[in-house]
Amino acid sequence: MNITKFAERFPDESSCQAYFQEKRVKEGVICKNCSCSDHYWLHSKNMFQCKGCEFWTSIKSGTLMENSNLSLRKWLVAITFISATKQGFSALELQRQLHRTQPCPPGYIHHLFSP
Ligand SMILES: [Zn+2]
Repeated sequence: MNITKFAERFPDESSCQAYFQEKRVKEGVICKNCSCSDHYWLHSKNMFQCKGCEFWTSIKSGTLMENSNLSLRKWLVAITFISATKQGFSALELQRQLHRTQPCPPGYIHHLFSP
């Protein structure tokens, strides 16, 4: 997917949220509290709620994105372009693509995702 198609497919945070929500549903959301796999989607909270114990699970929970304050759209940009690039994607290139201004040593991608 090139950047033009990405911008058309994912114009905002809600389109990215819908994408990740659909992926989570397909893969199955497992409750951290009771291990139940049946959930409701809470539109008001943008979270899954366990049908067994009512525990809330975010879209990011249990993923690489869990402890990040970075938006879902920025995560999706990073995931899309890292996976789409045949010759790899350096930390500096990702920094440029995400318009990060803080210096970040190559190889320390996690620094890009700190708030
Ligand atoms: Zn539960």
